[in-house]
Amino acid sequence: MAGAPRVAIVGAGPSGFYAAEALFDLGIGVEVSMIDRLPSPFGLVRSGVAPDHPNLKKPIETYDGIARAPGFTYFGNVEVGRDVSVDELLQMHHAVVLCYGASRDTGLGIAGETLAGSHAATEFVGWYNGHPDFRDCSFDFSQESAVIIGQGNVALDVARLLLRGVDELRKTDIAEHALDALAASRVREIRIVGRRGPAQAKFTSRELGEIGSLPSADVRVSPADLVLNPASREEAAARTAVNVKKNLGIFARYALSGGGGPVACYFNFLESPLEIGGDGRVERITLGKNRLGGEPFSQRALATGAAREVSCGLVFRAVGYRGDALPGVPFDERRGVVRSESGRVIGEEGAITGLYAAGWIKRGATGIIGTNRACSGETVEVLAADLPALAQAPRGGAAALAVLLDGRGVRSVDYTAWLRVDAEELRRGTESGRPRCKFTRVDEMLGVAVST
Ligand code: NAP
Repeated sequence: MAGAPRVAIVGAGPSGFYAAEALFDLGIGVEVSMIDRLPSPFGLVRSGVAPDHPNLKKPIETYDGIARAPGFTYFGNVEVGRDVSVDELLQMHHAVVLCYGASRDTGLGIAGETLAGSHAATEFVGWYNGHPDFRDCSFDFSQESAVIIGQGNVALDVARLLLRGVDELRKTDIAEHALDALAASRVREIRIVGRRGPAQAKFTSRELGEIGSLPSADVRVSPADLVLNPASREEAAARTAVNVKKNLGIFARYALSGGGGPVACYFNFLESPLEIGGDGRVERITLGKNRLGGEPFSQRALATGAAREVSCGLVFRAVGYRGDALPGVPFDERRGVVRSESGRVIGEEGAITGLYAAGWIKRGATGIIGTNRACSGETVEVLAADLPALAQAPRGGAAALAVLLDGRGVRSVDYTAWLRVDAEELRRGTESGRPRCKFTRVDEMLGVAVST
């Protein structure tokens, strides 16, 4: 091998940091250039994890340790595809690992989806977490009724944020603008709508159980919805269906009593959104009744032809995330992921030399934060196997990248500069009795990052 192996990682979220960790763990002196579009690192842990779940943000301590390791260079505020291309990164490094996640929402493709009051959960989540892209979104919390489409953990995050009182939220690092807007919320009814049944809901049981423990919630589940068809009974009986069994137990408890809070929170099953209606803004949603069809473990929602209208002023679609394509990188449009096998990016003529993917942009938006450790580990394992062939000639690495960005007038933020922003957010938090007050605009972050 000629000199230190130099690897660029695109994206400073969980999969990026776990890839860096796995590269350092190889113990062969790998140098890492980590690039992120925002000045702030940590991706979804900073701007996706709900603020009332601070424990899920603990991995940041690990990521911080990785960022301070010798051989690590951070380039925040640098957009790959705009400021530097993947090809240029490949020329300056022996390998490039794409870890830029899946940040776009999956649309429903129904009429009325773009009406005022109809939102992607990604917008709401980014907004309450202070992500600069969503800083100027607005939500009309003077509405009394909200419908959330999808039964995964993001749907529960959205519901919880609507259910939690501001006194609770004030103790978190929720963005200031969201705290102010939610303080005036008049939402009194929330429906979490699944196209399949309770045995197919994707909630993790801990999060499902938490909803019922919120003082403001009155969770409502119809006992009739908990009568399973034979295929669902078989799914629930499987030895591996631990989470399903727990969820069904929680739903059964909710059917008996879901707390006596002022906000009704319904779980509706076997219903698909058909149309969102209203005069200039959301006033109602039409839900089509489904039945389940197909074999156990691959049952699908089939329309029965029956439908009902539900009045509502807000609709959130929480039906999954998809990734964006990068110029020149093979992309699977249907799944919204980079085309890859075991982490090697695959083009028309097979694996692209030196190009890899890990995390949500490799496998789609599934799993919890820790799932990315194994995913990035798998990618680094194949990268390590390829390294002897890749690292024949020296590459400029982080130093060469810094020169290129400088020449283009790109104001990149290194890790020390980020720590200045971090310290200032913490200071502002202390001042207002909160754990952190986030900067929500890139310019504000850059202002602090570049000051001495
Ligand atoms: P998800 O778990 O995949 O759930 C998506 C939901 O949307 C499913 O109920 C799915 O139903 C439904 N859906 C998809 N397309 C639909 C359509 N056209 N019409 C109606 N419903 C539709 O996705 P997510 O909630 O976005 O979460 C993404 C990942 O992040 C998950 O792995 C999740 O566990 C994780 N996450 C974890 C936490 C946490 O640990 N606290 C918090 C947030 C997110 P089907 O099942 O029928 O497809």
